[in-house]
Amino acid sequence: MTVITIPGRTDHVVVVGAGLSGLSAALHLLGAGRRVTVVERDALPGGRAGLLERGGFRIDTGPTVLTMPDLVEDAFAAVGARMADRLELIRLDPAYRARFADGSQLDVHTDGAAMEAAVEQFAGARQAVGYRRLRRWLERLYRVQMRRFIDANFDSPLQLLHPDLARLAALGGFGRLDARIGRFVSDERLRRVFSFQALYAGVPPARALAAYAVIAYMDTVAGVYFPRGGMHALPTAMARAAEDAGGTFRYGRTVTRLERSGDRITAVVTDRERIPCDAVVLTPDLPVAYRLLGRAPRRPLPLKHSPSAVILHAGTDRTWPDLAHHTISFGAAWKSTFRQLTRTGELMSDPSLLITRPTATDPALAPPGSHLHYVLAPCPNTTIGPGTREWKELGPRYRDELLGWLERREMPGLGAAIEQEGLVTPLDWADQGHAAGTPFAVAHTFPQTGPFRPRNLVRGTANAVLAGCGTTPGVGVPTVLISGKLAARRITGPPAAPSRRTRGTAV
Ligand SMILES: Cc1cc2nc3c(=O)[nH]c(=O)nc-3n(C[C@H](O)[C@H](O)[C@H](O)COP(=O)(O)OP(=O)(O)OC[C@H]3O[C@@H](n4cnc5c(N)ncnc54)[C@H](O)[C@@H]3O)c2cc1C
Repeated sequence: MTVITIPGRTDHVVVVGAGLSGLSAALHLLGAGRRVTVVERDALPGGRAGLLERGGFRIDTGPTVLTMPDLVEDAFAAVGARMADRLELIRLDPAYRARFADGSQLDVHTDGAAMEAAVEQFAGARQAVGYRRLRRWLERLYRVQMRRFIDANFDSPLQLLHPDLARLAALGGFGRLDARIGRFVSDERLRRVFSFQALYAGVPPARALAAYAVIAYMDTVAGVYFPRGGMHALPTAMARAAEDAGGTFRYGRTVTRLERSGDRITAVVTDRERIPCDAVVLTPDLPVAYRLLGRAPRRPLPLKHSPSAVILHAGTDRTWPDLAHHTISFGAAWKSTFRQLTRTGELMSDPSLLITRPTATDPALAPPGSHLHYVLAPCPNTTIGPGTREWKELGPRYRDELLGWLERREMPGLGAAIEQEGLVTPLDWADQGHAAGTPFAVAHTFPQTGPFRPRNLVRGTANAVLAGCGTTPGVGVPTVLISGKLAARRITGPPAAPSRRTRGTAV
């Protein structure tokens, strides 16, 4: 498949943003021989995969569920580095612990045999057979989608017309996620375990395309990992590898405008300097990138954003050993929860929460004898739910409400155990410049997916490429790593095929 690449000189590329997409772009560009300068407004790399240091606690502020480490390996390999030399990844078992309102609990193992046995014990032999079929389906779905529809630059929806599209249709990828999962496992609790991931894509399972089960493949089959030192060790290691490969980083500098000559960007201007360039990769949220470019593409419908989240960080003097590294505490409510998050704009009345206990895997993230807990409560974005002004006063009240739920369900005595605390609400996400008060960008509804998602090339500017969660392929650590690589490919073209002499392994 031929892909449009940007024309003209591309020797020096400025990457705006040292989040995971910017770091991935930088590594792939450096690997292809470009000179790269990364400009980042914060003092550290990572962007949404941020770090907060408080009272001896090292708190990850963004992603906690790391999947598909081969994509991280890919980024290191671009500059001839090895992930194993730079990052220690620990495979989590269980990947998640699912706890239900009826008091039952299921450990989600990514090993097929272990999970089949767990499902049989949890819900009976028929469900275990269903799980085995589901797992095979997830594997096939992933194989059909990854190369053709996720890890690909799109220039036209016509590119979808490939035999893999028919394969995806035959697998039921264009049906609805919840219904498709229900064909394999009828137990309501199991359906939740394999469909809640749709929320990562910003869409309720009942409305998400079944193709999004690919996220369930990533976390329930391919595996969940945790870097020693916390999630922030990932961007730190990537930035170091880029520096070692000759990349230049300018931290603490906000890009305020782009200089142009005709349809080309000639320099990136920060609050402190002017950096001449041959090409630019822009990774900030789409409204910021479009403002810098001076135009936004026209779309038939306004972009719809994903739900947002409130995060409660709690450093405590005790822990709750029944919590795994990741525990999902499901409320009894389900469909109504998604209605509240995506339609009516209310806070969840019977919340489902992701509770992460990183010190279960790496105790060094807290002072000796202390523990770290990260609670993610999905909430409506500020377009349909409470606005930023309301969150000012709502935040502390919602914190108390969350504490109440947590104390009644998984963490009795939490309030009294807190030594350090942090609360992040849609007001904070909006302050960081994220549209609609959500860090999860535009939702993966059908009209905002694949070739219909905002493109990484922008009409009217010949040498700028977008990367990051707002553009293709989308939100999440694996996808933004791919997005950085795809942006680099727009500049460098596809990697050269190995020559006859180097192809194969014989030396
Ligand atoms: C709370 C939370 C939980 C999440 N959980 C998970 C999870 O468990 N698993 C998962 O896979 N994904 C998760 N995600 C999603 C994932 O973390 C993001 O999709 C991804 O990190 C976004 O990377 P990015 O490079 O697109 O954007 P960013 O990380 O936002 O990078 C953009 C960078 O640009 C910089 N910037 C912006 N404007 C300027 C400017 N004018 N000048 C200079 N620099 C600028 C920003 O400071 C930032 O560093 C989570 C996200 C959040 C916020």
